[in-house]
Amino acid sequence: MALPDTREFYINGAFTSSMDGTNVDVMNPSHDTPCATVTLGSTQDGEAAIAAAKAAFDSWSQSTKEERVALVERILSAYNAHAEDMAEAISAEMGAPIDYATNSQVTAGSYHIENFLMAFKDFEMVRPLGDHAPHDRIAYEPVGVVGLITPWNWPMNQVTLKVIPALLAGCTMVLKPSEIAPLSSQIFAKIMHEAGTPAGVFNMVHGDGVGIGTLLSGHQDIDMISFTGSTRAGQAISENAAKTLKRVHLELGGKGANIIFGDADEKAVKRGAIHCFNNTGQSCNAPTRMLVSVERYDEAVATAKAVAEMMQPDLAEKNGRHIGPVVSAMQYDKIQSLIAKGIEEGAELITGGLGKPEGLEDGYFVKPTVFAGVNNDMTIAREEIFGPVLSILPFETEEEAVAIANDTIYGLTNYIQSQNPETCQRVARRLRSGMVEINGKGRGRMAPFGGMKASGNGREGGVWGIEDFMEVKSISGIASD
Ligand code: NAD
Repeated sequence: MALPDTREFYINGAFTSSMDGTNVDVMNPSHDTPCATVTLGSTQDGEAAIAAAKAAFDSWSQSTKEERVALVERILSAYNAHAEDMAEAISAEMGAPIDYATNSQVTAGSYHIENFLMAFKDFEMVRPLGDHAPHDRIAYEPVGVVGLITPWNWPMNQVTLKVIPALLAGCTMVLKPSEIAPLSSQIFAKIMHEAGTPAGVFNMVHGDGVGIGTLLSGHQDIDMISFTGSTRAGQAISENAAKTLKRVHLELGGKGANIIFGDADEKAVKRGAIHCFNNTGQSCNAPTRMLVSVERYDEAVATAKAVAEMMQPDLAEKNGRHIGPVVSAMQYDKIQSLIAKGIEEGAELITGGLGKPEGLEDGYFVKPTVFAGVNNDMTIAREEIFGPVLSILPFETEEEAVAIANDTIYGLTNYIQSQNPETCQRVARRLRSGMVEINGKGRGRMAPFGGMKASGNGREGGVWGIEDFMEVKSISGIASD
């Protein structure tokens, strides 16, 4: 299959060439070779997309619930029809092994589309305020023209978590996907086109953060930015957006704690280590700090070592359950310097470490690495590494575990492993994070995803994800029907 042409944008219902953009290589992380060219849009390109979204707003904002649902149903069919090319594109652009791209990365997108359809089914766009106020109505209305800025690590997961609820809310939009992983969004634009999205409702421009990203976050005609990415970029976007007082929805980094209590089930450590290394450690909700009760500590270190040695990396195009390379040379260098810092600051290197695995010297491959004897002041316990690196920290009491878990700027997902439901309940309520997962049970369909503190302020998924793209209007003076 040929990879899609990422020198094209999708503006006002048509694929267009850039007016004045700059071409850069899209790198295949398994080989450190270019696999495509992406055009980074110019201001003119961005302005054209914003103008198209603005012009389409009046009509789309008035569309009925049924029209929006019908469009999203067509998008879901088109998305499923493109599953195979989508998996190949994701695998090539960000290095997910092809089976993982097919079974996890691509299906994350269809899962979200289905869930939003379910959540929207019972959504009342206009509701009574209550029996006490028979002349009052509360109307949920689209926030306006929205700018959507997404990262490379779960490309379709992020794109569908933004585009679909924005559409259902009645917003029009400009998507700027990650310039590192633009191929999947190019296919997504094709899906939107095939589904018959009205011209101007969905627009996509490739670009980088300083270019199109900054244009969107500072633009007067963009009413809201929904951003997923690094905490650093989230700060820059918030500052730039403040001038126009637009709404800013942020999904940022994480440094999840996984608390393994003495009575945790037998598989808890193995499960936690696998979760940390999945997607080559490039998930914002990865449980990267494993906090282990002292009585289970030696066993945990041995199990984590065995898991790391089992989850060896290999080329993304190969079938199998291996992990892939990390996304870029820059990420590779950042991870190497953090591993070096861990060694320098006195953490005990259990397995992995510096350098590339044997036979994989060309791509951006990192050895799955486990550090033990980590304390929470070390750089590897404080910074988001975004690579296959697990830190193990011992604790003695529940109080101490909660204190370590909360001693971070982040607050995305924390994890608890204990067979005592009371411990789980008590600790879950004390953890300062948007999500807590207990004993390996993932969140249910339509649960909200999002963080506290430096992990962001928005909620994606389910009814919360739709409401985040809406304004609440209070209308009084109409008698009830
Ligand atoms: P990044 O912040 O470098 O880039 C993300 C997107 O923002 C890209 O499209 C980029 O072009 C754009 N961007 C960068 N600087 C910008 C600026 N100043 N103005 C406007 N746009 C800008 O992040 P990344 O490296 O692509 O992704 C990894 C990060 O994303 C990690 O920190 C990870 O934790 C986070 N992430 C968070 C979630 C979540 O839901 N909380 C999910 C996935 C990833």
